Amino acid sequence: MLQPSLCVDHFLHIDFAKVGRPFLILDVDNTISACATHAPLIDGVAEFLDTTRASGVLRDVCLVSNVFAGRRKVDRVKRFARVLRAHYVLPNVFHLKPHAAPFREALGLMGAHPAQTVVVGDQIFTDVLGGNRLGMFTVYVRPLGPDHWTTWFTFRRLREQRVLRAWQTARDARESSTRAGMGQGMVLPASAD
Ligand SMILES: [Mg+2]
Repeated sequence: MLQPSLCVDHFLHIDFAKVGRPFLILDVDNTISACATHAPLIDGVAEFLDTTRASGVLRDVCLVSNVFAGRRKVDRVKRFARVLRAHYVLPNVFHLKPHAAPFREALGLMGAHPAQTVVVGDQIFTDVLGGNRLGMFTVYVRPLGPDHWTTWFTFRRLREQRVLRAWQTARDARESSTRAGMGQGMVLPASAD
């Protein structure tokens, strides 16, 4: 349940044609923007999504960010959604990711089924776990930079490191047979439990 379908070094490395899911649920902080109130989108993300949509590979995109308070933080997510021509979901404080509610709301906004949808994010215990629970394809992206203090306070990154080390060990053992070539920097985890 904690293992993503794929692991990548950077959002722009994902080959969505090979992922093969036309709907995208996309995390914001540390996935497409640094984790800071005034941080902009990473260079090239709008163009990347435009190109991927224009080619028919992606049909719709919904941002799902665990931002639930703070006018500037909320406005930043809304502004990103406008720039990216995406829907957005801002969960209430009792239904933050990995709760199913924000993922279900995103699916509803896009008119998508879980089997047609890929979840992309930088946290195993929110993005990947939430997506896996609903049976969606999940892509773990290495975080762009430092986290919000709560991520460390709850020891999530330390637990993530154990999950990622387990992959690395299993992948190294099976490297010749599990390389799928699904995009730059991508590896397949050894198994999906
Ligand atoms: Mg994040």
